[in-house]
Amino acid sequence: MTEAPTKRRPGAKPEKIRCDACPVMCYIAEGRAGACDRYANEGGDLVRLDPLTILENREDDTPLVPFLDRDWDGALVSGEDHFVTAIGSGTTYPDYKPAPFIVAAPVRGVDMITVVTEGIFSYCGAKVKIDTDRHLGPECAPVRAEGEVIGHVTTSEYGSQMLSLGGVEHLTGGSKKEGRATCAALLALCNCEEVALTIDGGAEIAVRAGAAPVVNGVREERMRVGCGSATIGMFAAQWKGLVDEVVVVDDHITGVVSEHQAGKVIDWAPTGIRIRGRRSTPGRYFQVAEPGTGWGGTNLTDPLAILDPWRDAAWPGLSLLMVSTTGENAAYYELNDDLVPVQKEMPERLLPSVARIEENCEPALASVLFMAGAGGSLRSGVTENPVSLTRSVQSRLTRVTCGGAPVTIWPGGGITLMADVTQMPKDAFGYVPTPALVAPIEFTMTAEDYAALGGHMDYVMPLSEALKGATGRQLDHRLAGRRAERAKDGTPWPALPGTRRGERAAQ
Ligand code: SF4
Repeated sequence: MTEAPTKRRPGAKPEKIRCDACPVMCYIAEGRAGACDRYANEGGDLVRLDPLTILENREDDTPLVPFLDRDWDGALVSGEDHFVTAIGSGTTYPDYKPAPFIVAAPVRGVDMITVVTEGIFSYCGAKVKIDTDRHLGPECAPVRAEGEVIGHVTTSEYGSQMLSLGGVEHLTGGSKKEGRATCAALLALCNCEEVALTIDGGAEIAVRAGAAPVVNGVREERMRVGCGSATIGMFAAQWKGLVDEVVVVDDHITGVVSEHQAGKVIDWAPTGIRIRGRRSTPGRYFQVAEPGTGWGGTNLTDPLAILDPWRDAAWPGLSLLMVSTTGENAAYYELNDDLVPVQKEMPERLLPSVARIEENCEPALASVLFMAGAGGSLRSGVTENPVSLTRSVQSRLTRVTCGGAPVTIWPGGGITLMADVTQMPKDAFGYVPTPALVAPIEFTMTAEDYAALGGHMDYVMPLSEALKGATGRQLDHRLAGRRAERAKDGTPWPALPGTRRGERAAQ
């Protein structure tokens, strides 16, 4: 939306107003919204359409009272009870003026200040953890949304496959279509919506933060109990005396109880079993099969495919349990006179151990961490000397939160943060068509520290005023309203003072 503004009659309100909250600089007609649907023209006023979200520090289930129905007594307002998040606060791009809200309130007897803004992040992305053994795709394989490459498969973690999505290369470094598809997928993922993704040379998946992932149309139920070797370690003693051999099939480390150290220490007798694959250490085998969506994250549908002919030490009637790392696949065999395994019905005596593996698996979930660099111009909305904010964050005098949710700050330069999107209030993220994500960010510190880092002290307003609907004098837009949201259970209250050198954390 970059057309010229409509001419106006002298004395009349312009029919279009200009939003300067992002580089797109929309001209917005009366009654219409800008390109991002975040700002609108209401009677010639620029209005931020999503209500300002205020966290309440309450654990009970009593219904939240709408702000307009409250009888505020400003003198009673404390930063221990309310926290103004950046959600719905607006943006001050390119930060030539102070952040939309700079609010002051006492917390545990300390005068604290929270600086609140909706940051526009071109340098941002999502790290996605998918709890599954199933092979989603080779490391470095492109991940696509709407057919566009928006990221890649990265290193697997213990029981989980990892995706690295977004980032400035996909948002701005490719075609317009790639940038839009990347932004749309990140926005949906960060707002806890389901997103369909395909992996080159791998699976089709559906991912939603906090929900079970869907792999090739099948909803994943369990995260594995451990690798094959760890499973042997956990359950060897429970299998002793019930079966002659156990193989836990795993794409990474397949375990064999009679050879494994866990078997040795309980005097498990050798069986003459031979496993295809690369022997790492006794009873631990790598690369027994290709990765896939079969047994234990391999491509196996028949686990016997990983066995070579048995050595002479084996005997007819030898019993063998083969099981996957989730217990989802399990089969029982006995060797015939030719020392060939023949599948038999799973004996009752082994059922509890397979069930125990399943019981020890956690529910499979997809997790989404928003990751972004806040080391750019938005710091100017906080202080006249941007690097002093970076130093204050790095020295933990300033606490950073996203929509009130805790963040992890990476060591090293800049303010590079990661936040669990499920800990944020609903629909905390927006976008602008540059394309970039809009994410809430708050900086909280003592008033003394804020003054010391060159903060915009002239723009500080009491928390009580913000709760009553007042806006900072630097704001050139109206707020659509305010809404209260209860802080998430178990998350630290965002306004607490940070840790000073020599002090213990306040929480
Ligand atoms: S895209 Fe949104 S934030 Fe950017 S100028 Fe248009 S209305 Fe304003």
